[in-house]
Parts: sequence; C-alpha cells; structure tokens
Amino acid sequence: MTRISLLGSTGSIGTQALDVARATPGEFEIVALAAGSNVELLAQQVLEWKPQMAVLFDSTKWPIFQDLVGSTTTQLAVGMDGLLEAAALPDADLVLGAMLGAAGLQPTLAAIEAGKDVAIANKETLVAGGEVVMRAAREHGVRLWPVDSEHCALAQCLLGEDTRAVRTLTITASGGPFWEKSREEIAAAKPEDALKHPTWTMGRKITIDSATLANKGLEMIEAHHLFGVPMDNIDIVVHRQSIVHSFVTFSDGSVKAQLGQPDMKLPIQWGLARGKRGSRVAPELPLAQMGTLTFEAPDDGRFPSVALAREAMRRGGVAPCVFNAANEVAVEAFLNGSTHFYGITDCIASTLERLTDSTRRGDSLRLEDVLEADSWARQTACSLLNVI
Ligand code: NDP
Repeated sequence: MTRISLLGSTGSIGTQALDVARATPGEFEIVALAAGSNVELLAQQVLEWKPQMAVLFDSTKWPIFQDLVGSTTTQLAVGMDGLLEAAALPDADLVLGAMLGAAGLQPTLAAIEAGKDVAIANKETLVAGGEVVMRAAREHGVRLWPVDSEHCALAQCLLGEDTRAVRTLTITASGGPFWEKSREEIAAAKPEDALKHPTWTMGRKITIDSATLANKGLEMIEAHHLFGVPMDNIDIVVHRQSIVHSFVTFSDGSVKAQLGQPDMKLPIQWGLARGKRGSRVAPELPLAQMGTLTFEAPDDGRFPSVALAREAMRRGGVAPCVFNAANEVAVEAFLNGSTHFYGITDCIASTLERLTDSTRRGDSLRLEDVLEADSWARQTACSLLNVI
C-alpha cells in the first residue's frame, strides 16, 4: 500500500487520481489532501477519504471549510505553511504534485527535502525551477515519476536504455482545437472556443495552453529537466489522434513509442505506482479500429509559443521561469476577457524581451532567484496587459 499526499486534489488530475485509488482498492491510501479554494469538493473528499491532514490554500474560505467538514479526526490546515506540511508529512510515501502553476514549486521542494518521491503532473514547477528541483532530487536521492502523459511515455520508452544513445525525444501534440484554423480565425477565438479540446478533458489553464501550443513549449522544458536531454534534441510532432503519447529515437535509428488511450488515469496510475504495472483503470486500446494515425510538423507561424519556449531555454537562467509566469498571467487574462488569443503569446514575447539579466544558470541558480524572477515576470506581464 502506497501512502499518498495529494496536492491539488480538487482539480482534473487530483480527482482522477482519487478515481484510480477507488478503482484499485488496497493499492493506495490517501494520507493528505490539499486544494486551492474549492471548499465544497475538498470537504467532500475529507469526509470520504478521512486523511490524516487536509489543507486549504485560500485562507478567505477557511471558516466555510471548517463548517463544511465539521467534527473530524483529520488535521485541518491553511495556506502555504499547510501545503508545506502536507508535502513533508512523515507518513506519506509519495507526493502527487497535481497543483496548478509555479505555486507548486515550494511544496514540491518541501516533499523532496523530506525524502519523498514525487509523482509530478505540475509541469510549471519544473519549467520555473527545473534546475533547483532536479538538484534537490539528486541531493536527497528521491525520484520524480512523470505523470504528464508525454513524459510518462518517454520514461517508459527509456526503460532499460542508455540515455547517451538517445538521439531525439519527440513529444506528440494533439494540435488543440485550432490546428485546422487559419491565423485570422485563431486570432478571433473566444475562451469558449479554446476550451473545446478535441481529445483530452483537462483543467482550464492547460486546455488553453493546448490551444496556443504553449503546453508543448512547457513540455519540452519539462523533458529537458526530467531526462537530461539537450533542448536541441527535443522535438514536437502533431499527432491529432493522441494515441502515440511520445517516442524516442536512438543512435541506431530505432524508434520506441508508447501508445494508449488518451486517458490520464493511465499515467496517473503509473506515476502513483512508481512505474509498476497495476490492474486496468482505463479501456484497452482497440488499435485495429483506430484507422490511420497521422503525424505532422508543428507550425510556428500560427503557434509561436513553441519557438518562444526554445528561445527561453537557449537564454537559460530564469528565462524559462519568466516564460512560464508570463504565460500563466496571460492565460488568466484571456480567460477573463482582458486580452485576445494572440495576446497570450505577445505577452510572453514582450515579457521575455524585458528580461535583461538571465545569466545565472545551472548549479548556481537558487530558489530565491526563481521566486524573484517569477514575481517580476508576473508584474511585468500584468502591466503589459493592463491588468492588476
Ligand atoms: P485544475 O485547474 O483542474 O486543478 C488545479 C488544482 O490545483 C486544483 O485542485 C486547485 O484547487 C489546486 N490549486 C490551484 N492553486 C493552488 C494553490 N495555490 N495551492 C494549492 N492548490 C492549488 O488543473 P489540472 O488538474 O488540469 O492540472 C494540474 C497540473 O497538472 C497542471 O500543472 C497541469 O499542467 C498538469 N497536467 C494536467 C493534465 C490534465 O489532464 N489535466 C495533464 C498533464 C499535466 P482549487 O480547484 O480548489 O482551487
């Protein structure tokens, strides 16, 4: 039985992780739950799972949360201190990082410093603070188990392989809702259009990232940190069916791919079980009925964010953190009607342009540098978008 501290329990990944735990009795015990502000769902989860600890980040809703939970043996906590405590809970064997955004950075580091393995869905943490997180993981001898479907696929393809023989990691992209649209049509897109993902059901922020393809930019940076492969050896290919989750090309020209249903319960189960195969939590893949699988090159003209992510990685230091923070702010602005669709990539590009000092990199990059750059980028992006 693996004891899990679940950070981000009320989100798309968090609720599917609880579905996996329900579908595999005796495999996983939930010892901590943590969420942002959805008090109703978090309270329901506390009553169902009776964890040792439950954390609500949003302190303004604390009285409502306490009322909803009522008398309980679960230790209730609030804010960042509560998240850090849940991440380092002595009885947890594994932390599932399913929070949204770079807000997951400090709890992820707390988990690592407490010696916990981390199943990581929260890609923004790796994009913003990849050097810091990977260095801490090495120092504390813990493993990160990728839950992002593409990285889970890459990790499976790399099993038993010598990473020096890797020529290319290729991350597949569904292309999102606008792949068949012209630049003019995309420019006029409204949030409700961008939220209609063709193959995956996910949280709102990552669904918009899929529409801009910023998600693929984030994933290239994530793959670079997780697998230690240079950015120039990481590619994107558009695969509309989302059946091939990613693939690796080796020095001899052989290609290994991982295939499966586009169902996040599969990589979530793999991550929670730390790479062990469990019982079936999603339908099998009826490959003979799939018809044709297609692969196309990405298009930087209509989807400029992949090139911006490459540029951020080339600059190094805190530039990827700035890319991520500007994207988080701009996606929020697009969702609440404060900017247009290409306003997102314009904001990332302009924020990166204003970054002058990103020389610090690699082993010399500290958590404080990342937090400072994150905060600077959020303020800069907000002023560029005229939002508070
Ligand atoms: P959602 O928006 O659905 O859920 C986010 C979760 O994080 C919610 O539980 C939310 O709580 C919580 N949260 C937000 N801010 C805070 C905070 N400051 N402190 C504590 N908890 C917080 O997102 P997803 O589940 O879609 O995505 C989560 C992460 O997983 C993202 O990094 C995403 O990129 C990654 N991912 C998601 C995939 C998917 O299929 N959804 C696929 C691959 C990766 P609340 O709702 O209570 O405010």
